[in-house]
Amino acid sequence: MITFDDATVVYPGGVRALDGLSLEIPEGEFVVIVGLSGAGKSTMIRTVNGLVPVTGGSVTVGDRRVDQLGRAGTRQLRAEVGMIFQAFNLVERTSVLNNVLMGRLHHVPLWRSTLGLYGREDVEIAMQSLELVEIVEKAYVRASNLSGGQQQRVGIARALAQEPTVLLADEPVASLDPPTSHVVMKYLQEINRRLGITTLVNLHFLDLARKYADRLIGLREGQLVFDGPGSEATEEV
Ligand code: ADP
Ligand code: ADP
Repeated sequence: MITFDDATVVYPGGVRALDGLSLEIPEGEFVVIVGLSGAGKSTMIRTVNGLVPVTGGSVTVGDRRVDQLGRAGTRQLRAEVGMIFQAFNLVERTSVLNNVLMGRLHHVPLWRSTLGLYGREDVEIAMQSLELVEIVEKAYVRASNLSGGQQQRVGIARALAQEPTVLLADEPVASLDPPTSHVVMKYLQEINRRLGITTLVNLHFLDLARKYADRLIGLREGQLVFDGPGSEATEEV
């Protein structure tokens, strides 16, 4: 369970990006957050792993209040929370497999990962993650040789290799064309169904959100303006 309790984020300079947000996300839910650019979607999901600290209220993941974790606690939380980015954020001049192994960094001592000394188990988990997004045949291809949609599937695999309990996807399809966006959303949905990982996805296209959201959350100026099944969302969101 992820709990937002009157969660507020005021950035230095005074922008109120999140304004008294209260809601609960049960384990295993597939939540899509929609809103215009600047509505606070990125800020909202980044409070979950503490990348953006709340300035008021609280965010709780399981039994942990994110704002009360020390350095070690925050590191542990981030190990359990996978992130998927708009621009994929792959290291382009290395292989797909190496990129996915970076998801294992949280599980491997730094001296070993520095030397590229991942264990057999790490490689197996990385390959299984690539299988989940059906791109295992590209494991030894340079990441920059893949299309955008393929790169995002690798981004998803890297997050899965972390063995996360929560997945945060910040505008994961904003750099992709509509057909490819559907492919990526289908993988995210299917992974949620199969593995039961609580998933929060930011989107700015309402039609895409409606189609995939079990639960759709609408934000406007940092406030909750809709919370319900995707099928019931109107243009007002
Ligand atoms: P969205 O993801 O919905 O586009 P964001 O959460 O990125 O919205 O931004 C919400 C508001 O907070 C915007 O007005 C944005 O300019 C502002 N903002 C975001 N990040 C920062 C930051 N690091 N410092 C100051 N203002 C920020
Ligand atoms: P998005 O809306 O897709 O999240 P933006 O282009 O709004 O992305 O922001 C990109 C980056 O710049 C983010 O890391 C965000 O936190 C930061 N940012 C956004 N608005 C501001 C701002 N007004 N001041 C400082 N940083 C900002």
